[in-house]
Amino acid sequence: MSDAFRSLFPAFEAIDCVYLDSAATTQKPQSVLDAMQSYYINTNANVHRGAYQRAQQATEQFEQARETVAGFIHAPSASNIVWCKGTTDGINLIANGLTDASWVTGSRILVSGSEHHANLIPWQQLAKRRGWQLDILPVDHNGIWQLEALDTLLSADTAVVAIGHVSNALGVINPLGEVLQRARLVNALTVVDGAQAVGHLDVDVQALDCDFYVFSAHKMYGPTGIGAVYGKTACLDALQPTQFGGEMVVEVTYQNATFQPAPLKFEAGTPAIAEVIGFAAAVGFMQQYRAQLQTHERLLLEALSEAFHGIDGVSMLAADGPRIPLVSLVFEQLDCQDVAILLDRQGIAVRTGHHCAMPLIAALGHTATLRVSLGCYNTLEDIQRFALALRSAVQQLR
Ligand code: PLP
Repeated sequence: MSDAFRSLFPAFEAIDCVYLDSAATTQKPQSVLDAMQSYYINTNANVHRGAYQRAQQATEQFEQARETVAGFIHAPSASNIVWCKGTTDGINLIANGLTDASWVTGSRILVSGSEHHANLIPWQQLAKRRGWQLDILPVDHNGIWQLEALDTLLSADTAVVAIGHVSNALGVINPLGEVLQRARLVNALTVVDGAQAVGHLDVDVQALDCDFYVFSAHKMYGPTGIGAVYGKTACLDALQPTQFGGEMVVEVTYQNATFQPAPLKFEAGTPAIAEVIGFAAAVGFMQQYRAQLQTHERLLLEALSEAFHGIDGVSMLAADGPRIPLVSLVFEQLDCQDVAILLDRQGIAVRTGHHCAMPLIAALGHTATLRVSLGCYNTLEDIQRFALALRSAVQQLR
């Protein structure tokens, strides 16, 4: 099936590239591009406004997409889905919406030590604004959460627990269920950063029983500039909007305005309509091939885990435990960036740096790693080419 997947992605028709940076953003299948183009050609109009047919069609497609995305993560209803620009925007929407909230009790926020900056800085800022304390769930030398620390970190004073489902820097699938369960026992509001999970795992927000779950379309074969915040109804009702203007209001006078119920109260202005439609098409793609995608990814991950064996001085961070098809490599006495440049010369695209998880990479004693992350369009041949190129790059630099 691997070449069959690849043939669904026009990005690979034009250039011969071994694309190993899907955690940054995935390539897009033809079906997503078609859905967006079709909207612009056939139904382009603003939503929730015009009485004419084209506007109604656009609104129907837009709201149908909300149903589709809700179904994808098993949300109880489309009204639990708020459109946002992506995970960063969605987490900011929640954190900023809590600035004056009295419905959240406590004065501490807990995040894990392996968060992406998107799920760290908005909470740092909220803590500063409210005079709260930011607590960090520590990681061990492999970057794995030290759950025993929850005994002292969680208390009735914990207002918010914000944690990632999957680490974008290490690929590790975190023990989310256990932390959410412990957070519920102290009545903390729970926020999950699902950016790296949705493209690989089955996500069921009702089974997780989290209050919020946030993700980006572009990490799961959809367009950039669009994402979703799932929220429990009571949480969305209580959360304050932070952007104001058209679309989100019921009645406006010169001095005052009343707001729509959620989700529309969070969606001021003209939304990213084509992107929403593309997002739904990406969900359609993932649902159509779900089983094959997961089988193929398992195969690729096995091959990837072997790819650097026998190359001196190369090791993988957080090698044990469940993971998505993503590995983070470090090199004895070599700069990751130098290795990446030599890989690029051989047509291989990887990412180096701290992966927007600077505190984690520092806690593990590094300044950068070389991250290899896969999508369904990768093939065993891609992994072989990567392995050969890596060996040759390391030899050249030594
Ligand atoms: N959280 C994680 C775990 C991520 O990997 C990313 C992106 O790399 C983000 C948040 C931010 O996502 P976006 O850039 O789509 O807002």
